[in-house]
Amino acid sequence: MDVREQLLIDGRWVPARSGAEFKTYDPATGEPLGTVADAGAADVDAAVAAARQALTDPAWKALVPAARARLLWKVADLIEQHADELAELETRDQGQSLGVAKTVSLTMAAEVFRYYAGWCTKIEGKNSAVSIPNTMHYTRREPVGVCALITPWNFPLMIAAWKLAPALACGNTVILKPAEQTPLSTVFLARLCVEAGFPPGVVNCLTGGPEAGKALTEHADVDKVSFTGSTAVGKQIVVAASGNLKRVTLELGGKAPSVIARDADIDAAVAGNLQGALLNSGQVCAAYTRFFVDSKRVDEFTDKIAAAASALPIGPGMSPETVIGPLASPEHADHVERLVNAGVAEGAQLVTGGSRVGGELSGGNFFAPTVFSGVRDDMTIAREEIFGPVLSILSYDDADELAARANDTDYGLAACIWTKDLELAHNLAASIHAGSVFVNMLPFLDPAAPWGGFGSSGWGREMSSNAIDEFTETKGVWVNLG
Ligand code: NAD
Repeated sequence: MDVREQLLIDGRWVPARSGAEFKTYDPATGEPLGTVADAGAADVDAAVAAARQALTDPAWKALVPAARARLLWKVADLIEQHADELAELETRDQGQSLGVAKTVSLTMAAEVFRYYAGWCTKIEGKNSAVSIPNTMHYTRREPVGVCALITPWNFPLMIAAWKLAPALACGNTVILKPAEQTPLSTVFLARLCVEAGFPPGVVNCLTGGPEAGKALTEHADVDKVSFTGSTAVGKQIVVAASGNLKRVTLELGGKAPSVIARDADIDAAVAGNLQGALLNSGQVCAAYTRFFVDSKRVDEFTDKIAAAASALPIGPGMSPETVIGPLASPEHADHVERLVNAGVAEGAQLVTGGSRVGGELSGGNFFAPTVFSGVRDDMTIAREEIFGPVLSILSYDDADELAARANDTDYGLAACIWTKDLELAHNLAASIHAGSVFVNMLPFLDPAAPWGGFGSSGWGREMSSNAIDEFTETKGVWVNLG
C-alpha cells in the first residue's frame, strides 16, 4: 500500500499551501503506508473560509431537511459499499483487527449516518407558554455554524462519523481534522461525502498534526469545536476557544471501574471484562481498567482472567485469528510500557504479560495483555489512563466502600457492575460518577444512547438527541399579536 492523499477544501483536493507532507505508518510492521498533506495555518484559513461560504450557499442552506436526510443516508450506503476497502484501511493504519474494523468501526459509522438521516426531519422548535398577553413565542433550532471536528487515533472512522453525521444533519458545515497517526479512513470518508453529493465547502478535511488542530480551535471564524482526545489537549482547547467563546464539546479520557461482586457469575464476568478491557488492545476510552473484586472471589477471578488474557492471539490486525493487534504508535507503546514499569516498581504483582512482544512481531508496536493483582487505589496504574492492554485488579471487603473508591478519580466516562443483586446494581449505578454505567455487560455503544463523561472525561454528550442539541443553537422568536 502506498497512498498519497491531499486536503479537501471547498470541494477540491489540494496539497498543503506549504507543500508539507507527512507519512503514516502500519503499526503492525513500522513500514510506511502512504503520504498525506500536512495542513498549516493557511490551509486552516482556506478551509474555514470555504465552510463559512458554504453555510449560506443556497445549495446547502436552502436544501430541505428530507434532501439532507437522503445525503446522509447515501453516505451510509457508500460506507457499506466500500466496507472491505475501508476496513482494510482502518486496520492497516490503526492496527485494530479486521473483525473489529468491520463489526465495530464500519458498522457503527454506517449506523450513525442512518440514525442522523432520520433526525434531519425531526429537528423541531416548540411553542412556548409565555404568560404575556397577546404574545406568541416559538423556538427555532438553527445550525451552530462552522464546526471543527477533531478526532483521535483509536477509532478514527467511527469517531469521525459520530461528529460528522449530527453536524451535517443540523445543517452545519465542517472541517474534519483526523489524528496524524491515523488519517486514511477519515480522508476516505470525506471522499464518500463528496461522492454522496454534499455541496462544495460543506465537508472539508485537513490532515495534519497538533498545529492544524490548534489553528482550528483558535480560529475566530470557527463557531464550534467537537473534540475527542486526551484530557490534556481538551484543557488547551478550552483556553483556545475562549477568544470568540466558540461552543466546545469534549470527549476525553477515562479510567473505568468494573465492580465484580461476591454473587457475580465469575465466568461471565471474566468473558465480559476481558472484552471490555481488551477491545482494540485496550485503546478504548471506556475500557474497563480498575477491577474492584470482592475479596472472597478475587483469586478465582484473577486466575481465570489472567489465563484467558494470556491465551489471546496477538498479531497484525490483518491476520484473521488476531484478537490483540498492535498499539497505534511507537510513542504510545512507550507510554504503556512506562506505566507497566511503574506498576511493578510500586509493588503491584505482575500475573501475566508486562512487556512488548518480540520475535517476528518486534517490528510492530505489540504489547502483551497484562494483568496486575494486589493493586492499591493510589498506585499510578490505578490512577493514570493507560489506554493499552493492562488490567489492574484491586479487591474490596465491604460493598459500602465501592462508590467512594470507584469515584476516586478525576475521570467519569464509564463504569461497570457485575452482580445478580438488583439493589447493589441500581444503588451503584446511581452513585458512581460516570456518563455510562453498564450492568453485567460490555461497554456497548448505540447511536440512540448518549455518550460522554463527568469531570475530566469531558463536556457534553455525543450521539442520541443530545448531539442534535450540541450542534444547534436555540433561537426564541417573539411576536406581538396586537
Ligand atoms: P490527543 O489529544 O493527543 O489528540 C487528539 C487530536 O487532537 C488529534 O487529532 C491531534 O492532532 C489533535 N491535537 C493535538 N494537540 C492539539 C491542540 N493543542 N489543539 C487542537 N488539537 C490538537 O489524543 P490521542 O492521543 O489521539 O487519543 C487518545 C485519547 O483520546 C485518550 O485519552 C482517550 O481516552 C481519548 N478518547 C476519548 C474518547 C471518548 O469518547 N471520551 C474516545 C476515544 C478516545
